[in-house]
Amino acid sequence: MKKETHRARKRFGQNFLQDQGLINRLVQLINPKPDDNVVEIGPGQGALTAPLLDTLNKLDAVEIDRDLVAMLTEKFANQPLTIHEADALKFDFNALITGQPIRVIGNLPYNISTPLIFHLLDYQTAIKDMHFMLQLEVVERLAAKSSTKAYGRISVVCQYYCDIEQCFLVPPTAFNPQPKVMSAIVKLTPRPFKITVQNDDLFIRLVKACFAQRRKTLKNNLKSILNREQMQQLDCDLSLRPEALTVEMYVKLTNTIDDLLDSESPLRKWI
Ligand code: SAM
Repeated sequence: MKKETHRARKRFGQNFLQDQGLINRLVQLINPKPDDNVVEIGPGQGALTAPLLDTLNKLDAVEIDRDLVAMLTEKFANQPLTIHEADALKFDFNALITGQPIRVIGNLPYNISTPLIFHLLDYQTAIKDMHFMLQLEVVERLAAKSSTKAYGRISVVCQYYCDIEQCFLVPPTAFNPQPKVMSAIVKLTPRPFKITVQNDDLFIRLVKACFAQRRKTLKNNLKSILNREQMQQLDCDLSLRPEALTVEMYVKLTNTIDDLLDSESPLRKWI
């Protein structure tokens, strides 16, 4: 087999896992079963792909770098691996939903982690779980509680759709080339929240608007969206900063605003 001579590409956030102990620990955590419907995002040179294929009857992978696609195709010839050469941010995961919920796995580049998680939330009802290796700071933001510095848009939205579990830390030495920051493994498990949002798009955009300027009050962040009368009808203290509201409070706020807006309201266009 041809020797692997791929030079890591910065623009694709390529930091390849090289610590076999850590790879084993991660695969143990994922605990794949032969019939699982698994998709790996960014298989790279196959550090996780190989041990996953030891168990799985089939595996799908989405990789953007065509040189790596060629390398993986050669490396895993005759194995039940389907490689999709694509940008995971634009990939239609419906193509992989075959009646059995998908399990998503990825050692993700920093620059795509937040948009990719948002993209995957579009498919959350068809996802069993997601295990990601991310920059520690992003994992902390995902898991952050209200009224903390790390709490923001991604915390509220992800905690509404998923249980978030910070699993373990990964030092820079686990990678080649080594990143400058700590990483961590996080597990996201989609499940229904205790209260349901009536309008998911409104929820996601409203949370974004509320956190547009996190040092400002909710009133300030919402003033271009709601008039004074509408603000007065909300059962919410708008003099608070966005991080003061729990996920439940954001859900209730979304539903109240949804009830306030008639279908022809220009605010729906903003939504
Ligand atoms: N899974 C491998 C490992 O653990 O060694 C590689 C991880 S590396 C941090 C990230 C991988 O994601 C690279 O293979 C990179 O080419 C790929 N990638 C980056 N952006 C991508 C995108 N938008 N869509 C799909 N793959 C992407």
